[in-house]
Amino acid sequence: MLTIATAEKALKTTFGFDSFRSGQAEIISAILSGNDVMAVMPTGSGKSLCYQLPAILRDGLTVVVSPLISLMRNQVAQLKSYGIAAASLNSANSQEESEEILNAMARNELRLVYVSPERLAKSDTLRLLKRSKVSLLAVDEAHCISQWGHDFRPEYMAIGSVQAELDGVQIIALTATADASTRADILSKLFKEPPKTFVHGFDRPNLRLTMRPKASARTQILDFVEEHRGDSGIVYCSSRRQTEELADFLCQKGFKALSYHAGMESAARSRHQDIFLQEDSVIVVATVAFGMGIDKPDVRFVCHASLPKNIEGYYQEIGRAGRDGLPADTLTLYGLDDIRLRRVQIEEGEASEQQKRIEQRRLGALVSLCEAPRCRRQTLLAYFGETSAPCRNCDLCIEGIEVIDGTTPARKLLSAIVRTGERFGTEHLLNLLCGEETDGIVKFRHHDLPTFGVGKEHSKQEWRSIVRQLYAAGVIALDISGFGSWTITEFGRTVLKGEATIELRRETLTAARGKGARKSKAGALKNLPGSDQALFQALREQRLSIAKALGVPAYVVFGDRSLSEMAQHKPTTREQMSEIYGVGQAKLTQYGEVFLKVIRDCLADNPA
Ligand code: ADP
Ligand code: ZN
Repeated sequence: MLTIATAEKALKTTFGFDSFRSGQAEIISAILSGNDVMAVMPTGSGKSLCYQLPAILRDGLTVVVSPLISLMRNQVAQLKSYGIAAASLNSANSQEESEEILNAMARNELRLVYVSPERLAKSDTLRLLKRSKVSLLAVDEAHCISQWGHDFRPEYMAIGSVQAELDGVQIIALTATADASTRADILSKLFKEPPKTFVHGFDRPNLRLTMRPKASARTQILDFVEEHRGDSGIVYCSSRRQTEELADFLCQKGFKALSYHAGMESAARSRHQDIFLQEDSVIVVATVAFGMGIDKPDVRFVCHASLPKNIEGYYQEIGRAGRDGLPADTLTLYGLDDIRLRRVQIEEGEASEQQKRIEQRRLGALVSLCEAPRCRRQTLLAYFGETSAPCRNCDLCIEGIEVIDGTTPARKLLSAIVRTGERFGTEHLLNLLCGEETDGIVKFRHHDLPTFGVGKEHSKQEWRSIVRQLYAAGVIALDISGFGSWTITEFGRTVLKGEATIELRRETLTAARGKGARKSKAGALKNLPGSDQALFQALREQRLSIAKALGVPAYVVFGDRSLSEMAQHKPTTREQMSEIYGVGQAKLTQYGEVFLKVIRDCLADNPA
């Protein structure tokens, strides 16, 4: 009988990791004891290992259903680098490749085979699987089976019947999706009996969370990426054009920045993706189309040039940073225009009324997070049903927030909305409050209203922040029609009548004036001392040249964390090298000497 102790040994010898991450040991134990499992764990928590380790310890073939070819390709490259026999069956294979894999399967030579859901459902695949001894069916990104999920894939629906055809083979479903309704869907569609279910915290404590009102987006983005020169990162934009313009702009500033969006030719797209995976210090400026299949563990930052689609989207996208557990930084910029645009997109979409209401709620939750009056992580985790202490790793915890009584400005705005018949949008209301006789104001004779000019003590920038905060607090609502006019909620009426008070964050009122200096850096490897820094760079260069020669992503050779440990501990023998994070037997044999040489050379040049 295989025990978790055996598994832990293999963790070290094969993968070079010292211990399990939280959640992994329980899940692996459950699999080794033959249970069906559903695992809900955040991105980057190490879900793949939960089936990979049993796959190499037990007899039989593990079949992994995975939605994206690029994801499969990289996982297989990574497994091979650990000396594990793995392959992927998908539409991008050449005829010869496919045949080779099928033969290897027929000879029972593979430990893991990755299959796209389309391919899985084909009768010849099924015939082949029936002949191979399949011992585990792992369903990655299992939320794709749910119509409530954010990326429904109808082909996933076939998995249940495939499992039945394989004599009810053991199954593990994995997802990072939090939603309770999605989880219930997965249970009912994949499992006949309730599986052992593991739900792990959604917190990603290594991610620094920062959100800022858009002031001058380009400068804000530039300042942010400047702090991370030399790191890999993603900047998300809301339009294709913006990705190209911003990528050009960053290139002019000396960064290696590449655009990525669905409108690009597929050859250019995969070229950009490959460069990002393979090289260090590349920034991809992308629409949200980018990232689903990216399991690059050393993405050091994610920036949203404008508001993400909703709170789930936000969580998924920032989650692409720091999968290796090292510190990573995120910045999200938001503005009223973004909020209005998202609302229009939802209302004009094809979804059912019920789905639209869900979407609006998710958007509302995100806006509340932007204007959160307390720790962002607390607010975010609360949305996923978790309670937590202040994190000390978000802008609000680090910079502190001061709340002031905002009842007076709130009532001024509310009164302006009421007196204009709840029919006007932000800019018109701000012109009214700031006393500007624009064409629109004159046309409606709004300069005759008693509210005209009563808000001159705040700039328009400050008023925009007040509007957002009152929206987030549920005092005012955007009309459903999508024209952007503001209406007053029930709660808003109590504020207007003076029956309730409102607090506003002071620093958002003034953020646009200062640059919003960030007090501490979240850079992962910036804490290496200067001499180690040079060694680290030399190790990275070595890694890049190997990765290029093999045509694999750099992290498949070694992750940043491995290189940073090498730079700090400076192993000079194979024995010492095997102690380093991520150095298992196969990698020690393959790359040990080369990297040891880099370290020895560096020590010879700089004797201590
Ligand atoms: P997920 O699928 O949950 O998003 P992955 O399986 O891709 O996450 O794992 C993220 C990273 O963490 C990978 O680089 C993986 O090698 C690493 N990892 C997984 N388990 C461990 C562990 N026990 N110790 C150290 N690193 C680990
Ligand atoms: Zn915090």
